[in-house]
Amino acid sequence: MTQHHQARKRFGQNFLVDTHIIRKIVNAIAPAADDNLVEIGPGQGAITSPLLQLCPGLTAIELDRDLAASLAEKFGDEQGFTLIQQDALAFDFASLYTGRPLRVTGNLPYNISTPLLFHLLNYHHLIADMHVMLQKEVVDRLAAAPGSKAYGRLSVMLQYYCQVEPLFTVPPEAFRPAPKVQSSVVKLTPYNPLPAAAVDEALFAQLVKACFQQRRKTLRNAMKPLLPTKEIDACMVESSLDPRSRAEQLSVADFVSLSNLLAGGSG
Ligand code: SAM
Repeated sequence: MTQHHQARKRFGQNFLVDTHIIRKIVNAIAPAADDNLVEIGPGQGAITSPLLQLCPGLTAIELDRDLAASLAEKFGDEQGFTLIQQDALAFDFASLYTGRPLRVTGNLPYNISTPLLFHLLNYHHLIADMHVMLQKEVVDRLAAAPGSKAYGRLSVMLQYYCQVEPLFTVPPEAFRPAPKVQSSVVKLTPYNPLPAAAVDEALFAQLVKACFQQRRKTLRNAMKPLLPTKEIDACMVESSLDPRSRAEQLSVADFVSLSNLLAGGSG
């Protein structure tokens, strides 16, 4: 169908061609026949096709008009298949909630993977799990533990909402055209309920952002735009944290208790 499709760099198009890797991804998802599957960026249908064989209830969201036209031609007759030609970044995923939580999947366009993950987190309460392919370096950041170099805002925000399980690495040769970097498939399972909930999630997100904006700063300095130093120190004492420590030393639970103290909550 799309033999002549010229991969578009601006859409982050690297198509999976390695059947072994495709099988590994589908096996990891292990769709049940009555799942509510959502695929972001189906491209030429490398994963879509085997998924549809196992689960007819699949909604595919593809931005590229030409690819969407080919997909409609190829899978349009399949019962339960829905194609949405739209920007996944602006898509309202709640509109796909049928009472069955969404199972999201996709070999994501790497140029928008971080904003896309943040967009998906808005719907964490409607999502059962997400199996996504990303640059390996991004997966390393998602899964990083406090104290490591890769630990940052992305790690804290993702680990606040989801259990993060890196599954396997995928080499550049598995794609056409081959990307310059290693890729990795990760499973993200939103917690329901959250193990440590922030009283004010917007404040939590703001705090995490401020603390990592200049990660070499001490917490006391990083938090200055949010609070007078006196109050910061009082918060630190109450949460048994050293105001001279840096953001990368704090666990997700530390950030939650700190933001709950700031919110005047229970901590
Ligand atoms: N799933 C296919 C595969 O594995 O071969 C294609 C993966 S390719 C890395 C990313 C796909 O996402 C492309 O088909 C691209 O057109 C699509 N895409 C890019 N930006 C998008 C966006 N904002 N919303 C939806 N799809 C997008």
